[in-house]
This record gives sequence, structure tokens and C-alpha cells, in this order.
Amino acid sequence: MQIITYPHPTLRHVSQPIRRVDADLKKLVREMFDLMYAAKGIGLAANQVDLPVRLFIMNLTSKPDGEEQVFINPVVSSPKGSDEAEEGCLSLPGLYGQVIRPKTVRVNAYNLSGQEIQRELSGLEARCLQHELDHLDGVLFPDRMSVGNRANVIEELQEFEADFVSRRGTGGIPSDSILTAQRAEWERKYC
Ligand code: ZN
Repeated sequence: MQIITYPHPTLRHVSQPIRRVDADLKKLVREMFDLMYAAKGIGLAANQVDLPVRLFIMNLTSKPDGEEQVFINPVVSSPKGSDEAEEGCLSLPGLYGQVIRPKTVRVNAYNLSGQEIQRELSGLEARCLQHELDHLDGVLFPDRMSVGNRANVIEELQEFEADFVSRRGTGGIPSDSILTAQRAEWERKYC
């Protein structure tokens, strides 16, 4: 398992709801936490490790002794207020930008034990959750930046695109048709 970076096509895939949780999926989630800590992140969506299912993890401390949260099939509602802050993303390493998002949101989801989660979130936690939920819908944070702010990161995005083309050229990344087939296989297993 590894974290995929922009513009890998699975980052633009709309992830499908999860219908079953098994021991394999729990193991994958454990690996996701380990990868996230190694990369010093506070949130990671399943499609960032090329797993096209509606699940993301969060731990605002970025350390294993902090609170580990898993959100399955999350639905966000009741957005209130507005807040601007800088965001980054493990799939766009080194790139940062200002994003305006609702200040507080409500989330309904399930955890790995199948228990329902109903929470009101604010601050960094609300921002992180909205960022991760965007991933499940194929949205990346630069899509949410103002036109003016995005202009400042266009060149960096183009560097990611050029790097992706060259890695594909050397066989480091499978073709679109192989990636599509791999996603379909995950969807048959869990969705
Ligand atoms: Zn991200």
C-alpha cells in the first residue's frame, strides 16, 4: 500500500458506499493509519491509497497515541459559518493553499464496528473532515481555492502532472485501464 499523488486517476474517482466490513478491510485501515503517521498527516481517505470505497481516517495529533477515528459512508450536513485557513494534502506533498469552508458541520457515519457516529464538528476537525469527504467525491483542495489563490499554485500542479507522466513512462504507474479494473475489483469486494 502506498499514498498516490496528483494527478493519479483514482483521486478523481467518486468512491462507492461500503456494504461489508471484513478482517481484510480492518487490516487495510490499520495500514492506512501507519502510512498517515509516517507522512505526518492528520487525515487520509481510502482513495488516496487507491482503494475506491467511502471511508477515511483521522487523527488530529498525527501520532498513534492520539484519538484514531474511522468514518465509513460519511454524510455531512448542517454547514454553518465560514472560515479560511491553509490546507495541505498527502497526495499533493509540499503544496499549500488557503481554502474557505463552513466552520462547523454535522457528520453521520459508521465506524469499523458498525456503530453509528453522529457528531457536531468545528475548528481543525471540521476542516479535516470536509477535506477528506471531498476526496471521496474526487475533489482536491486546490479545486476549492479562489481563482486568485489557485493561480499561485498552477505551476506546482503542472510539475506534479509532468512527474506523473514521466513515472508512467517508466512503468511506475499502471495504465488507466488496469487502474479501472483494479478499482472494479475492490468495488465488487466491498461495495
Ligand atoms: Zn487530502
